[in-house]
Amino acid sequence: MSSLSVIWAYRRTGKFAFHVLTGALESDQHCGELPIEFANGPAAVVTAVQRALLRGHKVLVGWSFYSPDFAQLALELQEVRAAVSDERILHIAGGVHATAEPESTLRAGWDLVACGEGERLIREVTTSMRKGDDLRALPGIAWLENGMLRRNGRAERLSLDEFPPFGPAHGRHGPIEITRGCIYACRFCQTPYFAGANFRHRSVANIRHWARFLVAHGFRDFRFLTPTSMSYGTQTAEPDLGAVEALLAGVREEIGPDRKLWFGTFPSEVRPEHVTPSSLQLLKKWVSNRALIVGGQSGSDRVLAASERGHDSACIERAVALAVEHGFVPHVDFLLGLPGEEPDDVEATLQLMDRLVERGAKVHGHTFLPLPGTPFRKAAPGTLTAPVRTRLRNLASKGKLYGQWEQQEVTARELVQGRDVDVRKNL
Ligand code: SF4
Repeated sequence: MSSLSVIWAYRRTGKFAFHVLTGALESDQHCGELPIEFANGPAAVVTAVQRALLRGHKVLVGWSFYSPDFAQLALELQEVRAAVSDERILHIAGGVHATAEPESTLRAGWDLVACGEGERLIREVTTSMRKGDDLRALPGIAWLENGMLRRNGRAERLSLDEFPPFGPAHGRHGPIEITRGCIYACRFCQTPYFAGANFRHRSVANIRHWARFLVAHGFRDFRFLTPTSMSYGTQTAEPDLGAVEALLAGVREEIGPDRKLWFGTFPSEVRPEHVTPSSLQLLKKWVSNRALIVGGQSGSDRVLAASERGHDSACIERAVALAVEHGFVPHVDFLLGLPGEEPDDVEATLQLMDRLVERGAKVHGHTFLPLPGTPFRKAAPGTLTAPVRTRLRNLASKGKLYGQWEQQEVTARELVQGRDVDVRKNL
């Protein structure tokens, strides 16, 4: 077996994906001893690669990024390739964007794309590299052959309990992922298309194990990653509050009364129809947060239906009223510029925002991005008119609205420009 070094092209966005992959390698009896480096930025990647080559190692450089970062990361890859080139180096891209767009990712310069979930695949890739086997035989690998895309399916979906939620041996922690996949099929969202249209839950015992680990390592804040917080333990649209309580009570028992348990807030949200008197009482009993992040997305029932959100705007208003009544501060996510939005729909959204703010909510504004892999991938980028921008800025100036909605309008345009260039290249 040859020696191998793993280098993550590591950056702030997407860093938790690398922590999960690190955990998958650490916890495998064949990969646990592999040297892993977290190289932040192209210069650091180059230095790490040169160091590994000097040691006589093969080098796997792993890249993972979201769609808005694709163009920037492709430039960084070129920079790394220009500085260090050797046949022992393999640049492999994984994650949501690369899985949805393997061909353009490969054409941008990556050697291989890892499609689907990475935990098992990274073990297989590193083992094959050390043995000198052909990686293209692995399920989930895509490559270019004579300029044509070839692919070997996608990596098998896995059970969360099989893998750590982060890389403990390297001190790379993060929120504990409690649920992967989503039964809802919101047409703008990559989650169900990447991770499947069902829920896979980490068991309470496993979550408690990792909460205990974090307590022993001095952590005081405990957060969870899930597409929809109140769906823990269920397989349907109906929450299983017994399962949610078993989770929260179990974690609270591990962490004691003084550490902070964050649930239904950053980095995961709650669907509005799951905000009920019983769910709020349950949260109030166990969690430390008083902010509740609620997915609203639009004030127009027509746009909500076209996006297949599965709830209407009255449901959002009800959720906010109930949350406030139970002592929470709702932060409601909105997506501006969704496909098919007409001036009346925009007005309905702005009026809903005003009513929610009046009731004590805050509004988190996003601009729609036509993300690869989603049913809305070919839609026009979200755009806002000057009067809409003025009204949003006005809300922001009162401290009622926050978010990257202005920057995302630019990102959405860039994303579509990149997409259209790719399409023309392939004609
Ligand atoms: S937006 Fe939320 S509820 Fe809808 S599909 Fe995505 S993760 Fe699921």
